[in-house]
Amino acid sequence: MSYLYAHMARLAPALLFTVLLSACSEPPLHRDQLFAFGTVIDITLSDVTPQQAEKALEILNDDFNYMHTTWHPWQRSALSRTNSLLQTGARFSVAPSVLPLILRARELSRASDGLFNPAIGQLIKLWGFHSESSDTELPPDADAIKALMDMRPSLGDLVVDGITMRTANKSVYIDLGAFAKGYGVDVAIGHLREIGVHNAIINAGGDLRAIGTHGSRPWHIGIRHPRSKEVLASVDIQGDESVFTSGDYERYFEYKGKRYHHILDPRTGYPAADTTSVTVIHSDGATADAATTALFVAGPKDWHRIAKQMGIKYVMLVATDGSVYMNPAMASRIRFEGAKPGSIHISPPL
Ligand code: ADP
Ligand code: MG
Repeated sequence: MSYLYAHMARLAPALLFTVLLSACSEPPLHRDQLFAFGTVIDITLSDVTPQQAEKALEILNDDFNYMHTTWHPWQRSALSRTNSLLQTGARFSVAPSVLPLILRARELSRASDGLFNPAIGQLIKLWGFHSESSDTELPPDADAIKALMDMRPSLGDLVVDGITMRTANKSVYIDLGAFAKGYGVDVAIGHLREIGVHNAIINAGGDLRAIGTHGSRPWHIGIRHPRSKEVLASVDIQGDESVFTSGDYERYFEYKGKRYHHILDPRTGYPAADTTSVTVIHSDGATADAATTALFVAGPKDWHRIAKQMGIKYVMLVATDGSVYMNPAMASRIRFEGAKPGSIHISPPL
């Protein structure tokens, strides 16, 4: 219980920046909340009957409970079973509940040049970012980081044959924390459509997928300011899109005046420097989620190249110096709320 409340309190500001509701002449909304993936899942449905809304909530509750327990990298789950069998080096059958995710994550990891790297679970654990309850306050020992990084964990080390898998690299430990939320939101949206719900938002702590409209208007979404509780910018959703953000404010500790956050650069083993937040708009949530993490690590210098490789069409990156980087298509959709950033760099088209 206290665990839930602690996290709801921590996440409450994230909920502020989501759906900016439009005028009351539009149809009434059904809103509800669940808790999964360490965050509040906010559900908004438009143009549904009370029966559909009830059914939808029941389905989403089952879905998110199932996904949360199946894909948990550290608690007893299908994914942690996979991880312990990978440690043996021998071939084994992978549960069908995790194999498709791992394969999709592997493709996205490759497209990101390994900046999105779900094989770095042991590094995440070393930093203490694996557990919601750990109170990490110190960076880990530099030699321990180096020893792990020298083993170069990568999903490319998996040898997959049909439904079987093995790896010779003992440093591989799969943590889908940068990806499962996006994949899960896609699964949930698919199930909503199956019961005839075509106008909805599923919002997992600020990472969301929206389908349809709210009456005659597009869904209007706010993007949180990385350094305040205000909305930085807003955007209208075009039919079926996911809006995902990775930020250095989601999870961090400070040591000797420096912020150590939870998005790690797999090339160095340390939190990625130079970026404060990245927002991506993409059709599916899984790709958007992987891309926000990859582009966060890529930073102001490399985000454009990596976005191109990953097939991403809309990016906004806030650098640690407060300047904003966007491609022209994103710039034409984004509306800044409040003070405009001091410096905005528009890249060549993606
Ligand atoms: P958020 O938690 O804000 O949604 P992300 O989608 O970027 O942010 O996910 C961050 C989580 O992903 C971390 O808590 C960690 O578990 C994992 N992670 C950190 N760095 C990487 C990385 N370079 N590649 C893949 N996963 C990562
Ligand atoms: Mg992500």
